[in-house]
Amino acid sequence: MNNADWLSRTHQHVWHPCTQMKRHEAFPLVPIRRGDGIWLEDFNGKRYLDAVSSWWVNLFGHGHPRIKNAIKQQLDELEHVILAGFTHQPVVELSEKLCELSGLDRAFYGSDGASATEIALKMSFHYWKNHGMAEKCRFVSLENSYHGETVGALAVTDVPLFSATYAELVKPGIRVPTPDTRQARDGESSADVALRAAGALENVLAKQGHAIAAVIVEPLVQGAAGMAMYDPVYLSRLRELCDRYQVHLIADEIAVGFGRTGSLFACQQAGITPDFLCLSKGITGGFLPLSCVLTTDKVYQAFYHDEVSRGFLHSHSYTGNALACRAALEVLAMFAEENVLDNNRQKAVLFNDILTPLRNRPDVRHFRHVGMIWAFDVDSPRADFAQAFFAAMLQRGCLVRPIGKTVYFMPPYCIETGEMRKLCEDTLAVLDDLRQTEGDLSKDSTALP
Ligand SMILES: *Cc1c(COP(=O)(O)O)cnc(C)c1O
Repeated sequence: MNNADWLSRTHQHVWHPCTQMKRHEAFPLVPIRRGDGIWLEDFNGKRYLDAVSSWWVNLFGHGHPRIKNAIKQQLDELEHVILAGFTHQPVVELSEKLCELSGLDRAFYGSDGASATEIALKMSFHYWKNHGMAEKCRFVSLENSYHGETVGALAVTDVPLFSATYAELVKPGIRVPTPDTRQARDGESSADVALRAAGALENVLAKQGHAIAAVIVEPLVQGAAGMAMYDPVYLSRLRELCDRYQVHLIADEIAVGFGRTGSLFACQQAGITPDFLCLSKGITGGFLPLSCVLTTDKVYQAFYHDEVSRGFLHSHSYTGNALACRAALEVLAMFAEENVLDNNRQKAVLFNDILTPLRNRPDVRHFRHVGMIWAFDVDSPRADFAQAFFAAMLQRGCLVRPIGKTVYFMPPYCIETGEMRKLCEDTLAVLDDLRQTEGDLSKDSTALP
C-alpha cells in the first residue's frame, strides 16, 4: 500500500478533525506509516520533521522506548478497570505524584482536554452550590481564549470560528481583555500590559463577582490564539483578585503543562497555585488520551457528605485508564531522572541563536519565545498564507501549521541542533518563495490551529 491507496480509503470513510474536508481536493492529507523521534514517515518513505509535536501532545519524540516499554509492561498486568468502586496501582501512584508536583490534593480523571475543562467548570459551580451559592454560575475567560470544543468548553472559548455556529447551544461566558504582550502601547512593557488587563478583570470581578464561579486562563501562552505570550505578573495578580472576590482560579495547562514553558507547570513561574489545574496533551508523552483535573482538599471536602447528590457524579468510561496512567508515570519519571528542564534550557539558548536570521527579517514581527515554544507573525499580503506556508514546508519535509499569519515551532524536546537548523533554513526559504508569488487572494484564508 502506498500513500495514494490510503488517501482514497481515508476519503471513503474518515471524517478528519478541524477540517473543511473539501479543502483536501487541493491539499492532499498525508498518510503516516511510522514515527521515530522527531520524524514521521509516510507510505512512500518521505520523512517529515514534526515541529508541532503532533498537535502539542508529543514530549519526547515518537515511539520513545521508555514510554513504549512502560505501556507494554502494564499491558501484561491490567489494561483497564472501571474506576468507580475500584482502584489500581498506576492511578494511585500517578495521583500521588501529580499532587506532590502541583501542590494540590486530589486528582479527577477524564480522557481529553475538553473533558478536563468540563470537569473543572462543573466542579467549580457545584462547589459554590454545595455552599448555598448557586448564583455563582458564570465563568470568565480571556479574549482569544481556547479551552476545548465541547458545548460547555465553548462557553469559555473565544474563537468565533469554533463557537459562533453553535451560539444557540452555548451559555455565554464573560470575556476580559487578554494580557497578550503584542497589545503593548507605546512605551509599555509586557508587565504593563498584564497589569492593565488585570485592572480590567478587577472591574468585572468587583461588579459581578457574586455571580461568577471561576476565571479560567491558559497560563503564560494562549496557544490556539497563535501562541500569544504574556507576563507572569498577570497570574500573580489574577490569584490575588480571585482570592479577594471569592472566585475560583482554573489554570488550563492542557497545552503548556509538562515543561513547555520552561517550568514543569507554567503557574510555577508566577509562584501561584490554582484552585483547579487542568492537564492533558503531554501528560502521556503523546501516547494515549488522558486528562486530569487537580484540585484542593477544600474543594473535595465540599462534596464529601451523606447525600449522594452533593457528590461529584461526573464520569467517563475510560476514567483513569491504567495504560494511560502508566504512560504518564513514565513521563514523570523521565522528568525526575533525565534533567529534562535543564537540558531544554540549554537547547533553547542554542536555538534562539540559530533562529536569529528569522528574528531579524523585516517581514517578521513579534518574534517570541518561552521554554520550548517559538512563534512570530509574518507580515504577508497573502490571504492564503497559512495554507501556502504549510504546503511548501511539507514539501521540504517539515510539519508546521501556522495559525493565520503566526508561524510557530513547538517541537518534541528531543529536537537537536541540526533539526532546528533545518527548520529555520526551510522557513527562511519558504518565506522568500512566498514573497515571489502573489498567492490566490480569493481563497478562504480562515485560520485553523
Ligand atoms: C488542546 C487544548 C484543549 C482541548 O483539549 P482536547 O484534548 O483537544 O479536547 C483545551 N485547552 C487548551 C489550552 C488546549 O490547548
